[in-house]
Amino acid sequence: MAISSFHPPLRTLMGPGPSDVHPRILEALGRPTLGHLDPLFVGMMDETKELLKYAFQTSNELTLPISAPGSAGMEACFVNLLEPGDKALVCVNGVFGNRMIENVTRCGATAIRLDFAWGTAVEPAAVEAALKEHGDIKVLAFVHAETSTGALSDAEALCGLAKQYGCLSIVDAVTSMGGVPLLVDKWQADAVYSGSQKCLSCTPGLSPVTFSPAAVAAIKARKHPVQSWFLDMNLILGYWGEGGKRAYHHTAPVNALYGLHESLVMLQEEGLENAWQRHATMHSALAAGLECLGVEFVVAAEQRLPQLNSVYIPAGVDDATTRQYLLAKHDLEIGAGLGDLAGKVWRIGLMGYSAKPENIRLLLSALAAAML
Ligand code: PLP
Repeated sequence: MAISSFHPPLRTLMGPGPSDVHPRILEALGRPTLGHLDPLFVGMMDETKELLKYAFQTSNELTLPISAPGSAGMEACFVNLLEPGDKALVCVNGVFGNRMIENVTRCGATAIRLDFAWGTAVEPAAVEAALKEHGDIKVLAFVHAETSTGALSDAEALCGLAKQYGCLSIVDAVTSMGGVPLLVDKWQADAVYSGSQKCLSCTPGLSPVTFSPAAVAAIKARKHPVQSWFLDMNLILGYWGEGGKRAYHHTAPVNALYGLHESLVMLQEEGLENAWQRHATMHSALAAGLECLGVEFVVAAEQRLPQLNSVYIPAGVDDATTRQYLLAKHDLEIGAGLGDLAGKVWRIGLMGYSAKPENIRLLLSALAAAML
């Protein structure tokens, strides 16, 4: 059988990510491939680091994209900061907190688990009580924007607690970057990772990370080598480090990095504050429309992420049939519920280029038609 080229249809992506990729980014991906040590490419890498510092709002020198998806950014933070015998306090209010626990135990460290109801934010008072109870925590880890539920946690308060109790913070900002305020330096966050495919509207597969000077000091003071060769920040720095002395570590995904660079240039052009405001405005419009359809939100208004809207599937409406209808009739993707929320909720994304009025109009009219 001769298999021919793959030509996907043009969908509207309003799920939990990936989001719609902006045409400017798609065009950037198709530019001529350079060698990964070509001086022009190295110059673009330096610009990408600067642009990422803006997106993270940090002056951390160790700020770069990991050549792998958000899960690898998560793993990079855990494997570099934790050693066998260390203790990490992990806040779990959805799927990705659970994944953090997996990472901690695979580092040979002990995970102290602090659960919160799915659909709610992490409570700083409970975290403080746990930090008081266990005196020897090295890392406090939490998800800023829980994509599985749509809850936004108070990263400023949680990073502040980490500092107060002498531990390092690991912050999952995969869904928050570009969609809601993320102020790494102001909040004194130590290790933060994100993803290219959410509010940056780039293709999936890259994970921006940033490490504070305190996190770098902890990496340098390690007694054991980082157990992952690929994600060892000491080695990655040899390739992404300062001023032209780049050594081969792995072959960078050259064209994918053109895409990330373009998406960050676009974020800079729009301005971070404007991007946050656009997400908030689009969320309000969507929420008003959903209310007219009688669709209710999972998360309380004050803890809601504008870019990920979890809503209860109305009684009598079939989950899979509705999502299939939206895809087949309107080329429109929304997300299913995960874990405890599977079959009970839909997750409607308003991320990056997807957060625009025409998408909201399409979603509301298609959903109304599907539920009639
Ligand atoms: N953390 C959060 C909050 C996410 O939403 C995701 C992906 O949806 C990840 C981590 C993992 O990212 P990736 O799927 O790019 O590996």
